[in-house]
Amino acid sequence: MGSMYMKRLPRKNFRLRKKKHKIICERCGKEDFVDFVPKGTAPVFCEGCYRNMRKQEKRLKRTESNS
Ligand SMILES: [Zn+2]
Repeated sequence: MGSMYMKRLPRKNFRLRKKKHKIICERCGKEDFVDFVPKGTAPVFCEGCYRNMRKQEKRLKRTESNS
């Protein structure tokens, strides 16, 4: 009965994306973890800053194509 539970557990963990690489955000200096390997040459950002930047990028492209 216990073995069944033990078998299911690793599968469940495997589906989760593990954020194990520690980074320090270039923008706000916050420590965060990412699920990719930082290159070291390019600036890395925490999830919040990254999302904000992506939003701004999209907005910029929109206004560019509109005008
Ligand atoms: Zn940040």
